[in-house]
Amino acid sequence: MISYSGLGNRMLSISSAFLYALLTNRVLLIDRGTDMIDLFCEPFTAEKSWFLPLDFPLNQINKFDDKSPESYGLMLKTNTINYTIDNASSLPPFIYLHLNHDYGENDKLFFCDQDQLLLQKVPWLVLRSDNYFVPSLFLMDSFEEELSRLFPEKDTVFHHLGRYLFHPTNKVWGLITRYYKAYLANAEERIGIQIRVFDTRPGPFQYILDQILACSTKENLVPQVSNQEPISTTTNKTSKAVLMTSLSAGYFEKIRDMYWENPTHSGETISVYQPSHEGYQQTEKQNHNMKALAEIYLLSLTDVLITSSWSTFGYVAQGLGGLKPWILYKPENEVAPDPPCRQAVSMEPCFHAPPFYDCKAKRGTDTGALVPHVVHCEDMSWGLKVV
Ligand code: GDP
Repeated sequence: MISYSGLGNRMLSISSAFLYALLTNRVLLIDRGTDMIDLFCEPFTAEKSWFLPLDFPLNQINKFDDKSPESYGLMLKTNTINYTIDNASSLPPFIYLHLNHDYGENDKLFFCDQDQLLLQKVPWLVLRSDNYFVPSLFLMDSFEEELSRLFPEKDTVFHHLGRYLFHPTNKVWGLITRYYKAYLANAEERIGIQIRVFDTRPGPFQYILDQILACSTKENLVPQVSNQEPISTTTNKTSKAVLMTSLSAGYFEKIRDMYWENPTHSGETISVYQPSHEGYQQTEKQNHNMKALAEIYLLSLTDVLITSSWSTFGYVAQGLGGLKPWILYKPENEVAPDPPCRQAVSMEPCFHAPPFYDCKAKRGTDTGALVPHVVHCEDMSWGLKVV
């Protein structure tokens, strides 16, 4: 399995591939990339590794794409493979499955039962993805029974898979625990705010700050500030800690200053923290990803979580924490949307690139309207999530 893109995308696609391997009785081996060893411990018992051995004979797998002759979608398109083959010896020893966000119609046939019957006979599958494709597995007859046995509560899939697979290394655990003890442990309530801005211009943007404040005050997630003279109280009012994560420091500075310069209506003390502000995504830098993982994990330890639309970073935090976050709607035309946010219906991540195909009828269909437990996402109208 080759996962790629940012850390959140990679954690989600590895979890999906692991579930697919469980459902199809396969062993999962993952490409170690540049930093997997620094980020995660081996999840399985000692002496066994989930990494593809460095001397694995198929050493070109990183080069496979949808145009490679080994690609399943291309084989279907060119009729190199077809459903009438029932003799396993006529099938190739390995097939490449292109499940990237930009995959094509033929690649998407992976999610059809008929195709799974064929793939079942192929000894090795090389899968590449950056997506959480679990919701579409829930729409397939082949996996229905096993999935209902594995997950009696359907909306806990990533919660369980993520906590089973992803154990931070000691170095990352140090980042998590030192931060938690220093800034969060003593608060009576912890509020996480994950800010991911998909705007390439340098921020911070006022409309995003307005949206964060509108969401958190409207939904009573953080105390409102007052412009009255502060009343000094002798009682120890509840202290709340706000943990912010963002690539930029701007939003954090503004919110921290707001709680310093003004008292709250309730008299509560609010402390505001942000572990890092890395500026921009630096996926290949080791230390950067360690911090990203530590921050995802710290967000998962909060009591109330606000996340940004479309962000797999936020999905992993909510899933690990078992939290239904308040999702900030994606702003359009640089204005804070109204309403600014809504609470997620489940803690499950969203599949951003699902197929819209009815395999039996062989025509397009709304896959978000077939069963009650797979619906469209709150933050992406064409996405699918398990509820
Ligand atoms: P997505 O792009 O929001 O879906 O999340 P990904 O995790 O897949 O990719 C974003 C990448 O940008 C992360 O893996 C980090 O490398 C970086 N990044 C984004 N937001 C933050 C943040 O709040 N803190 C840190 N440390 N890194 C971030």
